[in-house]
Amino acid sequence: MKYRMILNAFKGDIQKQLEEVTYFISGLQQDIQIDSAFIIGGDEMDGNDKEMLAEMVPTSSVIFVYMETYCSELLLDYLETVIDKDEICIFSAGYLGLEIAPRLAYRLKGSVLIDCEKLYKEDGVLIGEKKFYAGHMMGSYQLTEFPVMLCLSKGQNTMAVESTIKAKVTEVVLEEKSLTFSNSQAFPSVIEDDFSKSDFALVVGRGVKSQGAVSRLQELGEKLGASFGASRPVVMNGWLPMERLVGASGAILAPKITIVAGASGAPALYSGIEKSDFIVAINKDEKAPIMKKADVAVVGDATEVITEMVRVMGGEDAVDE
Ligand SMILES: Cc1cc2nc3c(=O)[nH]c(=O)nc-3n(C[C@H](O)[C@H](O)[C@H](O)COP(=O)(O)OP(=O)(O)OC[C@H]3O[C@@H](n4cnc5c(N)ncnc54)[C@H](O)[C@@H]3O)c2cc1C
Repeated sequence: MKYRMILNAFKGDIQKQLEEVTYFISGLQQDIQIDSAFIIGGDEMDGNDKEMLAEMVPTSSVIFVYMETYCSELLLDYLETVIDKDEICIFSAGYLGLEIAPRLAYRLKGSVLIDCEKLYKEDGVLIGEKKFYAGHMMGSYQLTEFPVMLCLSKGQNTMAVESTIKAKVTEVVLEEKSLTFSNSQAFPSVIEDDFSKSDFALVVGRGVKSQGAVSRLQELGEKLGASFGASRPVVMNGWLPMERLVGASGAILAPKITIVAGASGAPALYSGIEKSDFIVAINKDEKAPIMKKADVAVVGDATEVITEMVRVMGGEDAVDE
């Protein structure tokens, strides 16, 4: 198996990248040796001393890849032609690895692990580890499809580089392609109400099942005078704009009352509603975690129960059939 390290000299911290990758590979098993390094940079390598770099990198060969300005398409087209099927590429942390590693793995039909902390072999299978939940949980991934692309996690420990190898140096210049962006436009979704400051919130989850049902519940929520938010699966499905996401990755609500319907009550969502004075949960499953956390738990279908609430609070006319 061939191992390569890929460093980004467009960033001003090439020495740190090298020390982080060196620390990472120091924890690898004996049979894992880095064969070669790609150092990607601008025409002049932005003032980096190439000779010194070539001496420092602990590999038998160093390939300096120059581009006038950083262009991922150009780099991908090049790397796609030089990475072999049985290789493992270790990208230093940062934007280059975050983009190039998954795209290259996709093109070469390999595996990818972003934010990789550790790599080892178990029963002949390559295993990569990464952290989740703000570092509280470690996930292990079997990397079975080759080539394998790894992008290291940010803030790895560093280790001084002590290379005794005199690397063979190759230089490659990638010419600009005609591909340029002539124009780009962002279309932000507009949320008129500042729903995170409301006193009464309706938060819906995946259990409501469709975009149509979400829209229906939003209308019913308006009739109740509730602002409207949703769990992550709802916004990831595109049933509501991302700005309506409630939870650890979205808005933290602190209303007097929150009705949470069709959501299981995962910690990441719950952290967005736990400051509510009073929580009403509606769920088909009486054992859903949210049912224990809520002040009132209603077992039933989200849309049916909320339709009934609107009827009770606003009379028959309040509900358009
Ligand atoms: C780093 C990280 C950050 C995250 N951040 C967020 C975040 O900010 N916000 C967030 O929401 N999630 C977040 N998540 C995801 C979170 O862990 C959960 O996966 C997510 O909250 C689950 O959403 P849900 O409750 O809608 O879906 P599910 O967990 O699938 O629950 C659906 C619920 O609907 C019920 N149900 C089914 N049919 C009906 C019906 N007809 N009527 C009533 N109930 C019904 C089911 O019994 C079930 O309890 C994050 C995850 C990670 C790893």
